[in-house]
Amino acid sequence: MNCYYHPDKPAIALCKYCQRGLCPDCAAHAGDSLACKNLHEEQVRTMEALMQRNILQSKRVGSDYLRNTIFYGVVGILFTAFGISQFNWLGLQALVYAAIGLALLWAAVANYLESRKYK
Ligand SMILES: [Zn+2]
Ligand SMILES: [Zn+2]
Repeated sequence: MNCYYHPDKPAIALCKYCQRGLCPDCAAHAGDSLACKNLHEEQVRTMEALMQRNILQSKRVGSDYLRNTIFYGVVGILFTAFGISQFNWLGLQALVYAAIGLALLWAAVANYLESRKYK
């Protein structure tokens, strides 16, 4: 393949935006990629920035779910254990604590399942 702009020169790269062949004179660095010099540099940089942000976002969301899993799990176990251990003293009120604990454990499971989507 030859350069799109100089048909007599061999292409050494592809523009990430338009996928055209580029010779060393036409290839410009834009972020981690190459782009048509003075033509698609801005577009490629924007694409790179968008992709970078997507990666960071999914990482952040994934670890958020994992953190929620641990938080809900720990609090849920505490509430459930407290409710069960206090049942003889508190009666129905202890059942409410246990129910809250189980709901939190359920939230932990839901968050865990959600966090696995991001791996
Ligand atoms: Zn281009
Ligand atoms: Zn060229």
